[in-house]
Amino acid sequence: MALITPTADFNGIMDKTGRWLKWLHMNPELGNMDGPRERNTQAYIQSILTEHAVPHITVAGTGTVAIVEGKTNKSGRNIGIRADIDALPIQEANTEDCSNSPGVMHACGHDGHTASGLASAILLSLDNDFDGTAYIIFQPGEEGHGGARAVLSDPAYQKLNVQRVVALHAAPFYKAGIVQVKEGPLMYSADFFNGEITFPGGHVGEKFDAARQGMDPVAAMGEVQSRFTALQNAFASHRQIIQITNVHTDTSPENGNTIPSRITFKGTTRATTPEMRDSIQKGLENAVSSIHQKLQKSGIEGFDLSFNYNRIADPLINDRDTIQICRDALSGNIKMEEGIVHGYADDIAAYPNSALLFVGINDGTPGSAEKLHTSSFRYPRSALPNFVGITMAVTKQALQQS
Ligand SMILES: [Zn+2]
Repeated sequence: MALITPTADFNGIMDKTGRWLKWLHMNPELGNMDGPRERNTQAYIQSILTEHAVPHITVAGTGTVAIVEGKTNKSGRNIGIRADIDALPIQEANTEDCSNSPGVMHACGHDGHTASGLASAILLSLDNDFDGTAYIIFQPGEEGHGGARAVLSDPAYQKLNVQRVVALHAAPFYKAGIVQVKEGPLMYSADFFNGEITFPGGHVGEKFDAARQGMDPVAAMGEVQSRFTALQNAFASHRQIIQITNVHTDTSPENGNTIPSRITFKGTTRATTPEMRDSIQKGLENAVSSIHQKLQKSGIEGFDLSFNYNRIADPLINDRDTIQICRDALSGNIKMEEGIVHGYADDIAAYPNSALLFVGINDGTPGSAEKLHTSSFRYPRSALPNFVGITMAVTKQALQQS
């Protein structure tokens, strides 16, 4: 059985969708919730929806929600399909039909998500044989700009009472024709931490002075590192990650005789469940505060150790009921895989009852097999029909007439 019956409507819209994909790829805009970015992308999305008479509203500044009413609405059910629209600060290495903006590139397939989201909104409105409402959410700022939270906190979005949200994401690590439909943990949380150790610093010779014998910010940094490593090792499953990625001192790299007075460090963590994430944050904060207490006892004046832990992306745990709807919709139509937990993060996790499906796009063309967020990646045109077919099948399954 095929995922889609290629009707005249479908073929006509898919021709246009290929052109939209090309335009979006060539005109990428970075996400930025505070500034005027994504404006051209938003205007393009809204002009296509208007041209095809699909009602839509603006959300979160540069976002758009297309509203497709079913033939009936007895059940009051609805479903949201999330398509993210922002690009990345990467210089494209492809040469054909590539980005017109130096240093900005659609390297995560959001051009394909947007183009197929447009096609799905239009085709669902032409073929609205379902009960309830479908929302296609063109979300800004997915790449770490807090776009999902901005959408969720917009009163215009809240009024829609969206009950569940499904996102389709390009997967160069799967062959075209395969989709990952996995219940439970799918992606890790991604949080960042930073800290600063300050000591008086100075000439190494000053350590002869009894009052300054404990003056060793490098040893303090080493203690932070070893406590963090011990925590990491305590996680038997190693499905949590604590990684210091950056350490800087205020002494010159040429200097071997001066004790630094300031060391800064940065790092990141990953966890698959909210409980693991809580235990990582608590563990790191406790480790730092016990080092702080110990060093404070040394009585060195001017010593300080500060630490901040910032929660960025929640772990993505695919909702059981939403995944069941996807399985029922796709069973027999496309090859489904359970797959693994991925080290990526996606802010789809912030939406209630959400699930993300990784849709295989590797069709043998060079860019379609490249890693996400790399300069040679490219969402291939051949992936569009599967994205649209899956979106339509899942929507109709969620909103089937009883
Ligand atoms: Zn992405």
